[in-house]
Amino acid sequence: MNTVECTVYCIANSPLFLPSVFVISGFLLSVAGYFLVKNSIERLRFYWFANILALINAPILYFSMNCSMGSFLKIYFGYATIAFLILVLAPPAYRYHLKRTYGFQRDEDLEKLIGIERVYLLNTSLPKAFTLGRDIFVSMGMIDLLEEDELKAVLAHEKFHVMENRTPFLSRLKYLTFLPLSQDRIEIMADEYAEGIAGKDALNRAKRKIEKFYA
Ligand SMILES: [Zn+2]
Repeated sequence: MNTVECTVYCIANSPLFLPSVFVISGFLLSVAGYFLVKNSIERLRFYWFANILALINAPILYFSMNCSMGSFLKIYFGYATIAFLILVLAPPAYRYHLKRTYGFQRDEDLEKLIGIERVYLLNTSLPKAFTLGRDIFVSMGMIDLLEEDELKAVLAHEKFHVMENRTPFLSRLKYLTFLPLSQDRIEIMADEYAEGIAGKDALNRAKRKIEKFYA
């Protein structure tokens, strides 16, 4: 038997056959949903479902295996443990670095502007905006550079990333599941969301100003 036949044989004869079929069907439906819906937020939800179901399926497959594919899965679980630790430790480490290098504090005006908590003002004159876990960081330089509606567009873009990071690991699950959702694709979805909140014109003006600054 080759590995594919072996895998099919193992799963078909396992007591976990039905749960596996159930999870795999859910996974395929989530992937289909991802391609069928147009709304960025709904797309993201289907992507999460697909990731979570792929993760649930890994131990089901593992316990179904008693032939050669088992060793591949052992390697996978070793990899997943290391990747998981990095995913947990990297955001607080970077936050600590930001605190030491620039300093930041929570900003209620920015929070009100976009309607989300945990927006931090970063003490640097370079225009920067990014999201770390569920925290949004916007620099003083960005506030100086942009008009209010442009700033709102930038914050909305980052708010999408916060939703993407709803739990600390959700958006990074792709490192455990290998489901391809490229960073480019995520950026397009975040821009679509920002256009819906602040308008396409404001977003484009903001982008042009930021590009011009760094050119
Ligand atoms: Zn982005």
